[in-house]
Amino acid sequence: MAEVRLVNVWKQFGDFTAVKDMNLHVKDGEFMILLGPSGCGKTTTLRMISGLEEPTKGQIYIGDKLVADPEKGIFVPPKDRDIAMVFQSYALYPHMTVYDNIAFPLKLRKVPKEEIDERVKEVAEMLGLTELLKRKPRELSGGQRQRVALGRAIVRKPHVFLMDEPLSNLDAKLRVKMRAELKRLQKQLGVTTIYVTHDQVEAMTMGDRIAVINAGVLQQVGTPEEVYDKPANTFVAGFIGSPPMNFMDATVTEDGYADFGEFRLKLLPDQVEVLEERNLIGKEVIFGIRPEDLYDAMFAQVKVPGENMVTAMVEIIENLGNEKIVHLSVGDVTFLGSFRSESKVEEGQEIDVVFDMRKIHIFEKGTGKAVF
Ligand code: ATP
Repeated sequence: MAEVRLVNVWKQFGDFTAVKDMNLHVKDGEFMILLGPSGCGKTTTLRMISGLEEPTKGQIYIGDKLVADPEKGIFVPPKDRDIAMVFQSYALYPHMTVYDNIAFPLKLRKVPKEEIDERVKEVAEMLGLTELLKRKPRELSGGQRQRVALGRAIVRKPHVFLMDEPLSNLDAKLRVKMRAELKRLQKQLGVTTIYVTHDQVEAMTMGDRIAVINAGVLQQVGTPEEVYDKPANTFVAGFIGSPPMNFMDATVTEDGYADFGEFRLKLLPDQVEVLEERNLIGKEVIFGIRPEDLYDAMFAQVKVPGENMVTAMVEIIENLGNEKIVHLSVGDVTFLGSFRSESKVEEGQEIDVVFDMRKIHIFEKGTGKAVF
C-alpha cells in the first residue's frame, strides 16, 4: 500500500494551464475523490499520477518513491509505478473469456500458472463473477463487464487504484449498486484509491475525502461533511448540494443584521463577532443559505418577524414527491427553499419563510472566500 503526494504540480498544454500548482496528499488506504466540472483538470491530474502524462513542473510521489520531477529529469513509466487503472471505457479483450481477461495482467508479468489460477478465482469470488468465468465480454451485462474490468485491476494487487469515471456508462440503477460495491471492495482491499468524477452524489457517497477542483485549481480537500457544511468558498458551496446553495448580496449593518435592501435578517452574536474581527461591519458580503435550511413558517419552531422570518412570494413550485423546491422572491431578491412535502404552499401566494440563522454562510464579496 502507498500514499500519493503531489507537490506544486503544474501541467501546461502549450499556453493553456490545465493544472495549477496542485498540492495533494492522499493517505495510505484512503478513497480520495477528484471532483469538479468538465474540463477542470481532474483527468489530467490522474494521468500525471499514472504516468500517462508528464507534469510540466512539480513532484509526484507514490509511497516513498519520487516518480515524476521534470527539474531532476525523473519520470517513472506507468508500468513501473505499481498502479492499476480503471477507465470509463473499460476495454476488455473481446475474444478472451472473463477468466483470461482477468488473468491477462498476471500473464504479462509471468506469474506462475497455479498462482494465476488461485488469484483469478479469488478475485472472481470477491466480485461475484465465479459463474461467468467462461463467458466472453459480449455475453455479459454492462455491470458484469465493469466488474471484470475491476477484477483485472484488482488481481495484480497494486499499491494504488486510479479510476476515471468508471461507472458513467452504467444505467442509473446499476450505478447506485456498483457505487456501494466499489466502496465496500475498496475498504476490504485497503488499497489507496483516487477516483475521478463530476458527479457530486458519487463523490459524497463514496469518498473518504473529496478534492474539489475548478479551472485547474484545487479549491478544497475535506471529508464529504466538511465540504458540504464548511465550504471554503462560493465555488465549493455552489458546486456541492442540489438544489444549490442560495447566494444573496447583503450588507452587514452596525446593529448586526444582514441587509438585503428589501429585507433584513438578524445575525447571531457569534457571527457578528467574527464579522467584526474580519472588519466586515458596514461592508458588502455574499450571504449563503442552503434551500433545506429555509422553512415554511408553518413548520418552524422559532420564528421572529424581522429577525429570522420574511414574507415572500411563491413564484414556482417543483414537486419532487418527497420534497418541494419552492422558488421564492422578496422584491428583487430571489431564493429557493426545499420544503417538506406536507407544506401547503401554492404558486402566487405570499408566505412566511424562516431562515435557520445557525446554518448561514458568509463569503467575502471579491474573493468568494468563506468567512464562516
Ligand atoms: P471531463 O470531466 O470533461 O473529463 P476533466 O476535468 O477531466 O474534464 P481534463 O481532461 O483534465 O478535464 O482537461 C483539462 C483541460 O485541459 C481541458 O480544458 C482540456 O481541454 C485540456 N487538455 C487536456 N488534455 C489536453 C491536451 N493533450 N492538449 C491540450 N489540452 C488538453
